[in-house]
Amino acid sequence: MTQVAFAPDVFTWPADEPQLIGSKCARCGIVTFPVQGSCPRDASTEMEDHLLPRRGRLWAWTTQDFQPPSPPYTGPTGEDYTKFAVGYVELPGEVKVESRLTESDPEKLVPGMEMELVVVPFRTDDEGNEVVTFAFRPVD
Ligand SMILES: [Zn+2]
Repeated sequence: MTQVAFAPDVFTWPADEPQLIGSKCARCGIVTFPVQGSCPRDASTEMEDHLLPRRGRLWAWTTQDFQPPSPPYTGPTGEDYTKFAVGYVELPGEVKVESRLTESDPEKLVPGMEMELVVVPFRTDDEGNEVVTFAFRPVD
């Protein structure tokens, strides 16, 4: 099965240790995710691609117990739908990233816990390719 990224230029892939691709302002140093063409702080357009750290701390999250409206949701539907968690992971000194979490059991999620970026299967597209997306998982 061929694996394809759900969107180009969001994370490095294929890679043994994938990283999210953000941008960094050459003028003030602010980091954004996803990539932005201009700086949210000073409107500079000197934004450079910037690979984000693979580990961060869980900041806030919610579980998606029912299927979200589609679009924008493009994942499995109906009986194939499984609940998942979405959270914010704070990458130290850089930026908070909104991401799917691999763990959806609220009992196992703790504020401030260390999380690591992984690439996970998301759905199968019409051509039979496995579409992968990024997620954060708790570090053991
Ligand atoms: Zn700036």
